Amino acid sequence: MSDKVELGPDGKVLVPDHVADAVRTLIEWAGDDPAREGLRDTPRRVARAWKEYCQGYNEDPSVHLSRTFEEVGGYDEIVLLRDIPFQSHCEHHMAPITGKASIAYLPRDRVVGISKLARVLGGYARRLQVQERLTAEVARCIWDNLHPHGVAVVIDAQHGCMTGRGVRTPGVGMVTSRLLGCFLDDERSRKEVLSLMGY
Ligand SMILES: [Zn+2]
Repeated sequence: MSDKVELGPDGKVLVPDHVADAVRTLIEWAGDDPAREGLRDTPRRVARAWKEYCQGYNEDPSVHLSRTFEEVGGYDEIVLLRDIPFQSHCEHHMAPITGKASIAYLPRDRVVGISKLARVLGGYARRLQVQERLTAEVARCIWDNLHPHGVAVVIDAQHGCMTGRGVRTPGVGMVTSRLLGCFLDDERSRKEVLSLMGY
């Protein structure tokens, strides 16, 4: 976990010199001159951007599931938030992962505000990640905090480290899923949730 960010007198996140220097070194390593005009403010800008990309380190995503509603009018069907766009960064190259996630659960006795599922996703996505772990962490958080009958998380994403370097295959999506409870054990429930998600 990172420390709380400090703000400078201009109200922006304070960037320590050694962090800006690290970005300057990287620019040089990439083959450019960090002293040229267009790149002069880039190290501090990049450092601030990374604080934002990785904001998830400063939060516990489970807090978004702490307020639940028990009065659901007898509703006992799947709750699904489909195609939530998100961005993360891969922990192997620190390259962007962009994609969409579908998150579903079958409530036992309580539900959360639907936007909270997207907030849980954001809390884990804004860290250095691998897609498999991101998928599992979101599912586990909902499972542990809402105690539903089932949880299903499917993530479809593109990896900057594949599209922009290495094998350079733009347009290829990677799909990962984590199914828990009835969505894992019961074939009919699994088929139902996956077809609602469009898979
Ligand atoms: Zn990567």
